[in-house]
Amino acid sequence: MKINPPGFRFKILFSYIVVILFSFGLAAYLLEKNLEGKSLFISLFFALGLAFVLGSLLAAGIIKPLNKIIHISRKFSRGDFSHKIYVDTKDEIGDLAVTLNKMAQGLQEKIREIEVKNQHLVAILESMAEGIIVLDKNSRLLSINSVTEKIFAITKHGSEGRGLLEVIPNNDIAEITSYILREGKFISRELSMVFPAEKIFRIDASPVFGSGQVSGCLLVIHDITRIRELETMRRDFVANVSHELKTPLTSIKGFVETLLEGAIDDKENSRHFLEIIRSHADRLDALVSDLLMLSRLESQQIPLEKEEVDLKGLADTVLAGFKSQLRKGSIQAANDLPHDLIVQADRSKIEQVFTNLIDNAIKFNHQGGTLRIYSQDAGDKIKITVEDSGIGIPPKDIPRIFERFYRVDKARSRELGGTGLGLSIVKHIIESHGGSVGVETTEGLGSKFRFILPK
Ligand code: ADP
Repeated sequence: MKINPPGFRFKILFSYIVVILFSFGLAAYLLEKNLEGKSLFISLFFALGLAFVLGSLLAAGIIKPLNKIIHISRKFSRGDFSHKIYVDTKDEIGDLAVTLNKMAQGLQEKIREIEVKNQHLVAILESMAEGIIVLDKNSRLLSINSVTEKIFAITKHGSEGRGLLEVIPNNDIAEITSYILREGKFISRELSMVFPAEKIFRIDASPVFGSGQVSGCLLVIHDITRIRELETMRRDFVANVSHELKTPLTSIKGFVETLLEGAIDDKENSRHFLEIIRSHADRLDALVSDLLMLSRLESQQIPLEKEEVDLKGLADTVLAGFKSQLRKGSIQAANDLPHDLIVQADRSKIEQVFTNLIDNAIKFNHQGGTLRIYSQDAGDKIKITVEDSGIGIPPKDIPRIFERFYRVDKARSRELGGTGLGLSIVKHIIESHGGSVGVETTEGLGSKFRFILPK
C-alpha cells in the first residue's frame, strides 16, 4: 500500500495548528501563574516571538523550494536548460519540481530536434544550384541562400528582415510576389536582368500556406542564361551551316542547268562551267570535312592518341605540303623550331593545327611576304607561334576570330577556299590537349597566332 507523504496543504495547516496550540498553551499557563504587569507583558512578548520564529521556520520550509523553482524556471524560459531543480520534499512542490524538470528535458530535446532539422534545411538550400528566396506575407525577406546572394550581389546578413523591393529593386520580381501573395497560385516566369550582370532567369514562385491562408511566398530562381546562349548558338550554327551549304549548291545547280540547256555543246564555255562546278564541289567537300572534324572533336568521339611528337619535323612536313602555294605567293617560310622540341600529343591533330595556321598565314599574306614558326619555353609548357607579315586583323574582330564561321571578310575567305572553321578546329584541338590559343595582330602588318601546349 502506497503511503502518501504529508502534503503541502497539510504543512500549512500544521503550521497554523502549531502556532494556535502554542498560543493557547501559553495563555493557559499565564492565567494559571496569575502574572501581572511587566512580567505579563514580557512573557507575552517572549511567547509571540517564539510563535513567530516557529511559524517562520515552518513557512520557510514551503517558500524556500518555491523560490528555487522560480529561479530555475526563469533560466528555462531563457532557453538555459543546463540546470535542474533539486527539491528534496516529497509534497506537491516536489512533484512540481519533477514535472518542471521533465518539461525542461522535453523542451531541450524538441529544440535540439528543430535545430537538426534547421541544419538539414540550410544544407539543402545551400547545396542547391538555384537561388532561393523565402518571403513573409508582407514581402519581407525571411531567408535567402548563397546562390541568391551571388545573383543579386546582396548579403544574407544585410537583407533578411528587409522589404523585397528595398533589397532587390526589380519590378518584375515584385509583381510576381504580389500576385502570389494575392492569388495564392503557383506561377513560373522568365525574365531578363541587366544588373548586376546581364542574365536570363526562370522564376518559379509558389505560395506558402499557414492556417489555411497565404502566409508567404517561395521563389526558386533558375539561371538559364547559358541554356539560352547555347540555344542561340545552335540556331546560329544551323543557319550558318545551311547558308554555307546553300551557296555552292545553288551555284552548282545553276551551272548544271545552263549546261543542260545547251551550253554543253559550247566546248570552251562548258569546260569553264565544269571547272566552276568542281571548285564549288571542292568547297562543299572542305566544308563537310571541317564540320565532321569539329563535330567529332566536340563530341569527343575520337580519343587523343598521344605519342612523342617532334614539332619541328611535323612543321617541316606540313610546310612541304604547301610548297606550291608558298611559291605562288613568293612567301619566304622559316621553321625556327628547335630540333629537340618533343611534346606528348596526338600527331595527326597537331598536324591539323599546323595545316590550318600555315594555310591562313599564306592565304592572308601579301605577295612576297614572310612566314615564320618559332617557339618559346614557358616552364612546363611550350609556346608555338606562327607569324606572318600579312593583312592582320582589325581590333573589333579579334575577340570573335576563333568562333565557328567567323570571318573578317567573308567573300575573300570563300574566294580563297576557306570555310570559316579552321581556327575553331585549332582551338578545339589545343584545348583538348590542355593548352590554349591566342593571337596578336596589327591590321596591315601581320599576325602572330600562338598555341600553348603542356610539354
Ligand atoms: P577561313 O580561313 O577558312 O576563313 P579560319 O577559321 O581559319 O577560317 O579563319 C577565320 C578568319 O580569321 C579568316 O576568314 C580571316 O578573316 C581571319 N584570319 C585567320 N588567320 C588569319 C591571318 N593569319 N591573317 C589575317 N586574318 C586571318
